[in-house]
Amino acid sequence: MANHEQQSNGNGEMNQLKIPEIKFTKLFINGEFVDSIKGRNFETVDPRTGEVIATVAEGDKEDVDVAVKAARTAFDQGPWPRMSGFQRARIMEKFADLIEQNNNELAALDCIDAGKLFMMGKLVDIPAGAASLRYYAGAADKIHGEVLKSTRSLHAYTLKEPIGVAGHIIPWNFPTSMFLMKVAPALAAGCTMIVKPAEQTPLSALFYAHLAKQAGVPDGVLNVVTGFGHTAGAAISSHMDIDMVCFTGSTEVGRLIMQAAATSNLKQVSLELGGKSPLIIFDDADLDKAAGLALQGIVHNKGEVCVSSSRVYVQEGIYDEFEKKLVEKAKAWKLGDPFDPNTRQGPQVDKRQFERILSYIDIGMKEGATLLTGGKPWGSKGYYVEPTVFADVKEDMQIVREEIFGPVMSLMKFKTIEEAIERANNSKYGLAAGIVTKDLNVANRVSRSIRAGIIWINCYFEFDLDFPYGGYKMSGFGRDLGLNALHKYLQVKTVATPLYDSPWL
Ligand code: NAD
Repeated sequence: MANHEQQSNGNGEMNQLKIPEIKFTKLFINGEFVDSIKGRNFETVDPRTGEVIATVAEGDKEDVDVAVKAARTAFDQGPWPRMSGFQRARIMEKFADLIEQNNNELAALDCIDAGKLFMMGKLVDIPAGAASLRYYAGAADKIHGEVLKSTRSLHAYTLKEPIGVAGHIIPWNFPTSMFLMKVAPALAAGCTMIVKPAEQTPLSALFYAHLAKQAGVPDGVLNVVTGFGHTAGAAISSHMDIDMVCFTGSTEVGRLIMQAAATSNLKQVSLELGGKSPLIIFDDADLDKAAGLALQGIVHNKGEVCVSSSRVYVQEGIYDEFEKKLVEKAKAWKLGDPFDPNTRQGPQVDKRQFERILSYIDIGMKEGATLLTGGKPWGSKGYYVEPTVFADVKEDMQIVREEIFGPVMSLMKFKTIEEAIERANNSKYGLAAGIVTKDLNVANRVSRSIRAGIIWINCYFEFDLDFPYGGYKMSGFGRDLGLNALHKYLQVKTVATPLYDSPWL
């Protein structure tokens, strides 16, 4: 930490704010921090105050071209894809060590850039990011193909080879997790890469690039081009020399990325997109726990989570009581400065997202839903939105069909298990779902009937390194995490040779 200062949070309370020194603001290409070719910069803003934190180099198509050349050369001629998985793993472990040593500073960067809770970064996101490097490091020396059984006199086998240069376009809601969730399996596979962090949250990505170099990741293997989506992002998805693009973000942009891949070099595409995930609470649930889980499901990370449980279906027998408990809990939820360890919810990422959420709240009221609690900005500065719960929501309302990406829940009542399944599946999205019941038979039936990539029973947001994660339907395709993610960065080559004198054909 460079300095500590006392500052009001806008509500008369004084908090200890820890502002990290901003050390890295340039593009990271071929192992060096460089200005953008056009010399342009953009501002990144602290959502707690709306004030500018730093100006950051604005990469464009020309900068992406230079970064791709570096990554291409590192892939075609450099040591990274050629060294053994065991050697790559040692460097990845060192990278993880450095992340752990810089935990406070990284958590503080995500806190001021994205409004994320400092303690959550420090205790969860940053350690889990380092752990993902260790997880994939553990797999790097276990990548192998198989011996094939030929029907003719051939000896044949498969090789699993790195796919080449990967383009990673990532969003702002989890700057650390998204960066490492994509970079770690790609490094283990032996790929080289370009990462474009979201324009709202470029700071920690540049710090990670610095740590990767310190750890011994060779120049050109990991390049970070900060900049905007329609320029730098579009240049990645349409680039002729990038072999695959992995994207997390909105469904609209996912579609653009797929189109760009189709009309350029047919690069492989992996998309982790939006969601409108249902949480189904049955009559036999523990009311207090279920209400807590439902609230967490929508306010965690200020609702800026693709798997947020934004549609909550409660069975009619407990509905009224559940509604009371939920509202009580939502009213007691503590908003404030994300550096304060007592704060449970920080500001939305930026003014645009803040206004977008408020406009959805307005739409909900105009559509005739009943606002049970929240619905307003909080505090006198920054981009805070109160936890908001709508009841009397109809399935065709915009607030229940579209991803709001903020702390706004639609609460609905259901009668039967069949109705719950049908309504849960009544969405163009299929990212996640939650079920709360003590009845194993119900849990099994519902979990196998819902079309979503991850189902949580009597829990929510339970991720782990080995749990593949991704979407059904318009929530995308391809999986992050688990060994599925490693295999995304590999391709299969078959090698065959005649086998002349074997007695064992
Ligand atoms: P977005 O999809 O526009 O941005 C995500 C990333 O894509 C950023 O790095 C951005 O620069 C890049 N991008 C934007 N346009 C691009 C293009 N034409 N080509 C290539 N890359 C491009 O998300 P947003 O506009 O910041 O947020 C809008 C909504 O998207 C949110 O309200 C939310 O509903 C959804 N979203 C979902 C996730 C998720 O984790 N699934 C994350 C962020 C946003």
